[in-house]
Amino acid sequence: MQYRIDPRSGARLSALGYGCMRFPLTALGRIDADKAEALVLDAVGKGVNYFDTAYLYRGSEEVLGAIIEKNGLRGSVHIATKLPHGSCTSFEDFDRFLGIQLDRLRTDRIDYYLVHNIMSFEQWERLVDLGIERWISEKKRSGAIERIGFSFHGSQDDFMRMLDAYDWDFCQIQYNYLNENYQAGRAGLEAAAERGLPVIVMEPLLGGKLAGGLPRDAVREFEKVDPSASPAAWALAWVWSHPQVTVLLSGMNDLDQLAENVAVAERALPGSMSEADHAAVAAAVGIISESYRVPCTGCNYCMPCPKGINIPALFSAYNTSFVTGRFAGMYQYVVASGAMGDNSRLASDCISCGACVKKCPQRIDVPASLSEVRRRLQPFFLPPALEVVKRVMR
Ligand code: SF4
Ligand code: SF4
Repeated sequence: MQYRIDPRSGARLSALGYGCMRFPLTALGRIDADKAEALVLDAVGKGVNYFDTAYLYRGSEEVLGAIIEKNGLRGSVHIATKLPHGSCTSFEDFDRFLGIQLDRLRTDRIDYYLVHNIMSFEQWERLVDLGIERWISEKKRSGAIERIGFSFHGSQDDFMRMLDAYDWDFCQIQYNYLNENYQAGRAGLEAAAERGLPVIVMEPLLGGKLAGGLPRDAVREFEKVDPSASPAAWALAWVWSHPQVTVLLSGMNDLDQLAENVAVAERALPGSMSEADHAAVAAAVGIISESYRVPCTGCNYCMPCPKGINIPALFSAYNTSFVTGRFAGMYQYVVASGAMGDNSRLASDCISCGACVKKCPQRIDVPASLSEVRRRLQPFFLPPALEVVKRVMR
């Protein structure tokens, strides 16, 4: 395993961190604790020592805490988790959530604690008004929080303001070759590093989009340079080639994926990409950008929708329709919307209530984008045609 030093604390962190948001699920949609345990143990065995979870990742803190306790791993891993600041309306709430998280994680301290998903500077100002700075100082003094940071999905300007708004120990940003100038972006990454902060990178594969389902022409650009490396390996290596990146988080949910990521982590050192590599990435970016119409990462933050619409799945179908063809996208849309069942949730069921919009870290205008989905994947004849098919099948 490649290790990078947290420039602030001197901690030796594995360049590959485990993103526990995407632990494998059972058929009922709960975390498969046995599979998650096998993955965590394999990761630790391969040298991964940074595990990232959050209060809002359903079941993730509990499962991770149980695995760490059962296997006596607390001394060998760093735990990162996050405060659901949107649910904090008083000073006491900060303590309440942290207490729940310490119980779930079966520990008395959080190594890396983040204010979760800051999307605007005003959100931080609201927390300051509630007394978060005093609270952080108290918790760091007591040892319940070792290092404090924030995860960020807002504008670059707001990221720069956040960097200077508090004496942070670290920060976490979305960064990948398709988002080099999006959100904090490269300028934010460099600014954080200049201030001596370790930078944790999330979404290196943009919710898996840079791993599977790339346009064939984009994959060909990579294959021209290195036919043996997968698109995922290219995307991870690109992030690790930045010396300012301390840890890259990957939400690995099978052992093969974990093994591949570890293998890439071992060789993807800072500055390890050649000019030819960078040219291949630039060419692929040009091709991919033309194909991905809605920049949804599948994070699910916008869910649940009061109308039951599976927002990320519909966007995935829409993007697919530009990459692998309209028919493939339409088929995916029919499956994702449950259009063949009695309880379908179509793009046209959106009532534009806006509940999802303020939760989306990618700032997608969900209702407007769903209108696009409807126009492309739900032609007027689709619902009656499906009704006929259903009747015949019955
Ligand atoms: S705007 Fe549409 S998609 Fe978003 S939560 Fe409301 S009904 Fe659901
Ligand atoms: S629409 Fe936004 S919040 Fe919802 S899954 Fe996509 S990126 Fe996440």
